[in-house]
Amino acid sequence: MKFISTRGDAPALSFEEVVLAGLASDGGLYVPELLPSFSQTEIASWAGLSYQDLAFKVIQPFVDGEISDADLTDIIAKAYEGFRHPAIAPLVQTDHNEWVLELFQGPTLAFKDFALQFLGHLLDFILAKRQQKVAVLGATSGDTGSAAIEGCRRCDNIDIFILHPDQRVSEVQRRQMTTVLADNVFNIALQGNFDDCQNMVKASFRDQSFLPDGRQLVAVNSINWARIMAQIVYYFYASLALGGPHRPVSFAVPTGNFGDIFAGYLAKQMGLPIEQLVIATNANDILHRCISANDHSKHALHQSLSPSMDIMVSSNFERLLFDLYGRQGAEIQRLMSEFESGTMRLDEKVLSHARSLFSSYRLDDADTLAIIRQVYEESGYLLDPHTAIGVAAARATRRQHDTPMVCLATAHPAKFPDAITQALQSVDGTTAVEPALPSHMHDLFVREERYTVLENDIASVHEFINQALD
Ligand SMILES: *Cc1c(COP(=O)(O)O)cnc(C)c1O
Repeated sequence: MKFISTRGDAPALSFEEVVLAGLASDGGLYVPELLPSFSQTEIASWAGLSYQDLAFKVIQPFVDGEISDADLTDIIAKAYEGFRHPAIAPLVQTDHNEWVLELFQGPTLAFKDFALQFLGHLLDFILAKRQQKVAVLGATSGDTGSAAIEGCRRCDNIDIFILHPDQRVSEVQRRQMTTVLADNVFNIALQGNFDDCQNMVKASFRDQSFLPDGRQLVAVNSINWARIMAQIVYYFYASLALGGPHRPVSFAVPTGNFGDIFAGYLAKQMGLPIEQLVIATNANDILHRCISANDHSKHALHQSLSPSMDIMVSSNFERLLFDLYGRQGAEIQRLMSEFESGTMRLDEKVLSHARSLFSSYRLDDADTLAIIRQVYEESGYLLDPHTAIGVAAARATRRQHDTPMVCLATAHPAKFPDAITQALQSVDGTTAVEPALPSHMHDLFVREERYTVLENDIASVHEFINQALD
């Protein structure tokens, strides 16, 4: 399969090349030249498959001719063996015809494990074949870093460097990263904010001359195609469990960079009957403003109770726009240069197409706390603040109550104990409920940590990386 850039001006790449590539040379994102699609009969024949067997069916067409069936089976098996629940992505019912899809059963308790466990093993396989070693470099404000580290810690051909803003991630999030003591894992606490971390990563990708000979950087952020691809699987899995493809299913997705929900859109394009796709945002609501009012403008970052969705611009939205603009790279180039001013407007036709595909909703912190409490009182089920936004958005925008609504649960509530405690503070001020960490993490707070604090200076960071790789 060939992959092309959304800006139409970069060489087409093979699957393996695209996994290693990150951004295209024209600044665009890679997408498949032709999306595979499945008939209803074929999808129906997958009912009852295990998560892993279903993942094989969905992913195989993308890697056909490059990765053998046996190797793909092996990569998928390794990717999901560390999940705590045998269903991998279990469904829990929270209301009549409303379900939560628990995507937090992986090692770091957030849905990013689905993509990053897979990506780590995939990269290691590709690199072994090419007899190549790479350095993964990323910046994190929380969930991505730990999921990337867990995905790469056992990889022979990868060293991983994750920058987080010193003193500005939660203790659970920091410890999930810094207590991984593998030799190929390097945590850097940068004396700056998340933007400083991200800018440093971007600059390092632009000029990689600081690396030892023969090394290259690989990005594992959500623009990596393999991450999106791995996330398509659970849309099929949930639908099949709820009577699909014979009946349509709807999904509500807590959205930041538009990676997760874009995978849902792809599942639909590949033949899965999906009725509604709900974009759920927190106060960082650029996507909701865009869909509801054609206002795609950059606002200041707002720190919310759902920090993994605190973004100003959703990078994967460009992949959707590429489709909506008839896959004309020149149109996307024009839009993106318009957006350099901080704002852009979509064509009316494009906007109405987008509205036919997606509903959208925005929730502030107070309403996030309210829905956590409401669902807990109704059903005894504890939502994390990200998932809560999805559930509230689903309830507010739902059109057909006889279509099952699946709310993607993107994190375990124990990752965000402060929000839960606030939400369940009872009228008399006492808290009855504190979400417990799963047993494999019970000793997280006493484990040994390892990380290096560096000043906010690119030369220091480069020197550190260079020495570590020597
Ligand atoms: C990353 C993340 C999101 C947002 O996912 P996108 O693919 O960036 O839209 C939502 N919830 C949690 C818990 C996350 O870690």
